[in-house]
Amino acid sequence: MKVFGPRPWGNWSERKIVPSPVGEPCIFCEEAIRQDDLGVLMPFMSADMKDSERPQHRDCLIHSIFARPEDQRKTRRESARATRERVDKEGPS
Ligand SMILES: [Zn+2]
Repeated sequence: MKVFGPRPWGNWSERKIVPSPVGEPCIFCEEAIRQDDLGVLMPFMSADMKDSERPQHRDCLIHSIFARPEDQRKTRRESARATRERVDKEGPS
């Protein structure tokens, strides 16, 4: 797993820390990655079948796994933050 951000996060044994892809859009919320965001590079295959990697915020990754209806907010990014805050507080379930 390739991760980025101003501090290490996650505890995967095969984690690789890479430079933040500042300005590239998150594959989930489409907001541009900022220098202080935490995230991952996800494998991505374009319509023309070319392999690449695209960034995803840590919050958006957590949201894609643990989202509940009550996490729904005005934007995808806000919904992702709500899920991450709930998971940080209550643990994943
Ligand atoms: Zn995002």
